[in-house]
Amino acid sequence: MPTGRLGGTLFEIDLVKYPDVFLHSKSHEVKFPLDDKTERLIKWMTKAMYQHHGIGLAAVQVGYLQRIFVMDCTRSRENPKAYINPEIVEKSDETLRDSEGCLSAPGKQGDVKRHLRIILKYQTEDGKEERKTFYNLEARCIQHEMDHLEGKLCIDYEKGEYSRDKHKSQTMVESDFRAKSDT
Ligand SMILES: [Zn+2]
Repeated sequence: MPTGRLGGTLFEIDLVKYPDVFLHSKSHEVKFPLDDKTERLIKWMTKAMYQHHGIGLAAVQVGYLQRIFVMDCTRSRENPKAYINPEIVEKSDETLRDSEGCLSAPGKQGDVKRHLRIILKYQTEDGKEERKTFYNLEARCIQHEMDHLEGKLCIDYEKGEYSRDKHKSQTMVESDFRAKSDT
């Protein structure tokens, strides 16, 4: 266990989980330069992603409505990167329907159609604007995290398409994660 241990006791970062309504909130744009709080949040998100064995994690999943996600799709799991104020500026016509899971909805899956290639525009932690092309798993992961920033969940998809009504009949609940949000 390389992560998750603090002073000898197992310390696990809690994630906001379905059916918490907080996951349906839209995240806000991040202002630069980043303040200490946001820098700490990014470190915290990275730690949570590894701890829960995810390849990506959005700020809303740890209780903050900020347009930030972290991702590491590498096998070595030592190449985390933060994407701030991300925006998909181009997407391929080719799509693929596949089942997708989410750390915020353990044990559940959605059948989601995603673009195979995307170009993402985003800011790095020092505020620099970058543009990069992503393929396959990374492209899918980014589209999943972008959905989180819009308050959408992969489990809300049906036959590949997004359906906000899918969980309408389901009771969503409020948790104390709300208190942490800086909206
Ligand atoms: Zn997710």
